[in-house]
Amino acid sequence: MQFGKEFYPHKTLDRLGFKRAKCKFCSKFFWSKQNRDFCDDDECRVRANIERYGFIGRPIGKRHSYIESWYTWVRVFKKFNHTPIKRYPVIARWRDDVFFVEASIYNFQPYVVSGEVEPPANPLLVPQFCLRFNDLENVGVTGRHYSGFVMIGEHAFNYPEKFIYFKDKGIYYIYNLLTTGFKIPDEEIFFHEDSWEGGGNAGPCIEFFVQGLELGNQVYMQFKKINSELRELETKVIDMGAGLERYPWLTTGLKTSYEIVFPKTLKFLNQFDLSYQERVKLADYTRTLFISLFDSALPSNAGGGYNLRKILRLCFKILRNKNLNLDLVELMKIHSREFELYPELKNTDFEIIKDILSEEEGKYKQTIKNAIKIIKKTREFDLQTLRKLYESYGITPEIIREIKPEIKIPENFYETKKEKIKKEEKIFDLVDLPETEKLYYQGKTRTIAKVLKMIDSYVILDKTVFYPRSGGQDCDLGYINGKQVLDVIKQDNIILHKINDKLKEGKFVELLVDEKRRKQLMQHHSAAHIINGAARRILGKHAQQAGAEKRIDKAHLDMFHYKKISEDDIEKIEELANNCIKESREILVTFINRMEAEKKYGFEIYQGGAVPGKEIRIVNIKDWDIEACSGLHVSNTALVGKIVIIRVKKIQDAVIRIEYLAGEAAEAYLKKIEKILDECAKILDCRVEEVYEKTKELFESWKKNKKYGRN
Ligand SMILES: [Zn+2]
Ligand SMILES: [Zn+2]
Repeated sequence: MQFGKEFYPHKTLDRLGFKRAKCKFCSKFFWSKQNRDFCDDDECRVRANIERYGFIGRPIGKRHSYIESWYTWVRVFKKFNHTPIKRYPVIARWRDDVFFVEASIYNFQPYVVSGEVEPPANPLLVPQFCLRFNDLENVGVTGRHYSGFVMIGEHAFNYPEKFIYFKDKGIYYIYNLLTTGFKIPDEEIFFHEDSWEGGGNAGPCIEFFVQGLELGNQVYMQFKKINSELRELETKVIDMGAGLERYPWLTTGLKTSYEIVFPKTLKFLNQFDLSYQERVKLADYTRTLFISLFDSALPSNAGGGYNLRKILRLCFKILRNKNLNLDLVELMKIHSREFELYPELKNTDFEIIKDILSEEEGKYKQTIKNAIKIIKKTREFDLQTLRKLYESYGITPEIIREIKPEIKIPENFYETKKEKIKKEEKIFDLVDLPETEKLYYQGKTRTIAKVLKMIDSYVILDKTVFYPRSGGQDCDLGYINGKQVLDVIKQDNIILHKINDKLKEGKFVELLVDEKRRKQLMQHHSAAHIINGAARRILGKHAQQAGAEKRIDKAHLDMFHYKKISEDDIEKIEELANNCIKESREILVTFINRMEAEKKYGFEIYQGGAVPGKEIRIVNIKDWDIEACSGLHVSNTALVGKIVIIRVKKIQDAVIRIEYLAGEAAEAYLKKIEKILDECAKILDCRVEEVYEKTKELFESWKKNKKYGRN
């Protein structure tokens, strides 16, 4: 896509004395104060026979360290009313389409960019740590590639009713940053006209270069693209991204940017027999892993965890090849001190990280052992086989290549995108029907409602007291005009009740919810949040919810955890959960603005996954657990009565399932167990206290007899 001159801030660039020209190599238009017929893209410079990067050994501008560069950004942009905000976690929990934050704009997608939710500040500046796993080969080679880096995001969100600034001011601020902030001479600066497209949007953008180094890209999110036709967006956004490390690199003129990003880590690695590339890879990969683990991500064989395990294993591989005994946790400790931009890293629980890494190392060693055997037996190495080897045996393509270097790894092997969560199928045509008024949120269990429509055996009412099956919580059942309700589901914001009856439109009907069932479901749901809080306290903050189901006769909570959980830990979690019940903690439910909730409680509120909308429903168990949740809860933990953990098992790599019961279901379960024990005592003809000893005795003698019997 190409835009004409008028789509760029040409007036401002003119006024600042820059001249527009066309590059004789790449044909792109660019602005500069030099009399040159080629742009400053490093490839075009090479074609013009000048050095790719002209600043190496010949620094440009005022010398800056890594952290000083951020301070200069802040100083200049504060002058232009920008508010610096804290980074977002690298795990994009607020989104259901990606795992990791790859650019600062990810923080504000989809709801801020669409105009639905207000940004945390406007305009703003954010030092966002971003992960990129597609260029790992180049880390340590090019001097500028990383698996994780700090992207400075400059963002302004222009709404129809509130304009902040767009192209002309945008480029003026950048010019100001470069010349007054970093003291780069005017004639060194090149502005390139370019365009971008993504996510159905498009627009012009301006990249800025100095001596072949791209210092940033200011994108103007201006158009929506509908069948190759461009339409103006309602919310126009400035999306400027710049790699922070490039500023100290340019102004020091060092050979690579790595030397200024993690000099202490590299110096520490100097004592080992490693190549420069290996040292950089170790420094970069461990920094990426460290921040991901700090943000509660875990390596695994599924989803984004693939990528973390991959880079961790690349580290293990380097150490294995060189036969080095180097503790990666030591490197992370250096990062925690060296990475001054993120002071929160100083509060890392390194014990947990150590444990995670040693689990992973054990798995890696075992995998290598198995791999040698299995690979010998494998003939073909197509994508399907590679996936199977990975999923069944944990053998990554990298391990295969260690053993068979000639194997080619398909590029799409590691996925960075979440497989779009399959939205519940929309089967009903609900056009023109109003949103159902939801009385269950007021704790109601009976009401009179008007029939709006009957579709097959489903009735739609103007309001309801029936909670629909959603968020892992089973639906309410009961009666509508004396007829049994068989199922309750939700589509968009409309609730459908399945009944064995035909109801006339316009008729008023009586709704009655089975209160006993409702109470049990609420107890199970509140119990899930209580166990969640308990598990995090026992296992560590990485123990985040991976899924849940709450029915009347059974319930479970899936959690991320990196190893098999011990009996001891299970007992501790159960005890802590029951203590929380005894402490009678209040459970508060509020609807609050999304940004406010994120600011106040952090991104851990998205335990149950990304939730849509401007206002989100927050369930807050006082000083225990806070989650965005749409389920029904009791008002105080005491009302859960009791929690019994029935069983804990591993259901996936890095995911455990805690099966539990609460309230009456828990009492009934304990009674059942008691009865079984009584029956056993009767059969063994002993007291209940003696059942264990008696059973053991009996079993031992049975084993002995069996042995003799066989001979
Ligand atoms: Zn060019
Ligand atoms: Zn919940």
